[in-house]
Amino acid sequence: MLSSKKKYIVNSNSGIKAQQIQFADQKQEFNKRPTKIGRRSLSRSISQSSTDSYSSAASYTDSSEDETSPRDKQQKNSKGSSDFCVKNIKQAEFGRREIEIAEQEMPALMALRKRAQGEKPLAGAKIVGCTHITAQTAVLMETLGALGAQCRWAACNIYSTLNEVAAALAESGFPVFAWKGESEDDFWWCIDRCVNVEGWQPNMILDDGGDLTHWIYKKYPNMFKKIKGIVEESVTGVHRLYQLSKAGKLCVPAMNVNDSVTKQKFDNLYCCRESILDGLKRTTDMMFGGKQVVVCGYGEVGKGCCAALKAMGSIVYVTEIDPICALQACMDGFRLVKLNEVIRQVDIVITCTGNKNVVTREHLDRMKNSCIVCNMGHSNTEIDVASLRTPELTWERVRSQVDHVIWPDGKRIVLLAEGRLLNLSCSTVPTFVLSITATTQALALIELYNAPEGRYKQDVYLLPKKMDEYVASLHLPTFDAHLTELTDEQAKYLGLNKNGPFKPNYYRCLGLPRNQRRLGSTELPAVQLIPM
Ligand code: NAD
Repeated sequence: MLSSKKKYIVNSNSGIKAQQIQFADQKQEFNKRPTKIGRRSLSRSISQSSTDSYSSAASYTDSSEDETSPRDKQQKNSKGSSDFCVKNIKQAEFGRREIEIAEQEMPALMALRKRAQGEKPLAGAKIVGCTHITAQTAVLMETLGALGAQCRWAACNIYSTLNEVAAALAESGFPVFAWKGESEDDFWWCIDRCVNVEGWQPNMILDDGGDLTHWIYKKYPNMFKKIKGIVEESVTGVHRLYQLSKAGKLCVPAMNVNDSVTKQKFDNLYCCRESILDGLKRTTDMMFGGKQVVVCGYGEVGKGCCAALKAMGSIVYVTEIDPICALQACMDGFRLVKLNEVIRQVDIVITCTGNKNVVTREHLDRMKNSCIVCNMGHSNTEIDVASLRTPELTWERVRSQVDHVIWPDGKRIVLLAEGRLLNLSCSTVPTFVLSITATTQALALIELYNAPEGRYKQDVYLLPKKMDEYVASLHLPTFDAHLTELTDEQAKYLGLNKNGPFKPNYYRCLGLPRNQRRLGSTELPAVQLIPM
């Protein structure tokens, strides 16, 4: 059984920095990390394990003067319902505007709403959700509602809720239990209020991080008799599901959205291509043209970073251990070097390997004055930050997420986000990327809810390939993109159905360990939303 322990870390330099929830039995740790970012940035918060999940939270109206806990307030929406708990229902109008802005960049969910006007593939679904509560998730929730589902929602992060968005959802009738700055007790209370309701039992779970699933396992295991499936978005949550499955304790089918090909491709490559520059600019105000940068690792994330920096006129070096990725870097016009060869001359060092100790104290000692050091990989192990905590070095917090580490001779390096993921700590994530994930979540819910008995066992699955393709195709009209259709002759020649799937089912999951590759069904999706 999972057991959880929460820790709050308060750092006097940067305010409250992190809330970690630790699952003692699996040594799996993730931060629910609020980050107060640079002077002109909006507030943003994420789960640390985060290739996990994103919230690009923008909040303009934190009524921080109002110290009353939402739990102590009596609030009603304009229809008289009090089945919600948000900071201030009066902020609903402002939240509605935020939701409308997000809708512009979430074309696939809007298309799903239109397509499902007649049919309601989620009619009868009672979804309990635990995600970041932002404008983007509001668009998802309202789409699920339009598809026929009833939803109750809590936040998966104690800091990331946009109060005005939560208010807008509550105003439009969604039982939402979330506000920015919940205590640990509030966090579990909100989840409980979603689950423990008289006359209402969930039959689907949409989780981000696994806390909701964990709570139901711990407190209401009988509920699983009625639950048809779990859709999980985050690395951490998926990891926990695989552990449950391995231990034979997973009692319903689950969909691993995190490893779907659309999420992986867009998060890793395109999202990093956009957000690396954003993260560096917000923290350092630097100019990229002519700067010498070394990027460690030329996987998807490294490719995105290199492409962005090259486009800005930076001189980019790459380090790699894998000859194939190394050759790709060469073919893309980057100089492949060992870190030692360039460490004295570069202006910026970026790690994106997923490995540990890629940048060591020896490298840090040899860097030139003002060299910027940051990490885009999953965990904060890539740069040996701990080795910088020695008495002869002075740390100076110059801005939120920016430390100067000063050597006795006056040399200083600029360390960003203490070696944690730069973009998730210091910038926002494009709504369009979130749209892809949200659409995948919606389709996963539809598939699990409608799947015929026996299609999915008590195991963790990836979304059927056809649905991944459908998620992508729903985003194409944004670009006025015109897809070529196979002729009958071509389809026959390639041995493909004209309507897909166009790639083999294993195409997307090569990154997953072999024993975790439970492919989505090769049968047709349970609901015929998708053109066949
Ligand atoms: P990947 O496996 O495609 O690429 C990592 C590359 O690093 C590989 O090519 C590998 O050969 C190389 N590598 C490993 N050790 C190395 C070393 N010591 N020196 C040089 N190269 C080395 O993975 P990816 O999809 O590019 O993801 C990289 C990391 O970024 C992962 O930790 C991933 O979880 C994380 N990630 C971050 C974001 C983000 O928003 N910042 C998004 C997605 C993924």
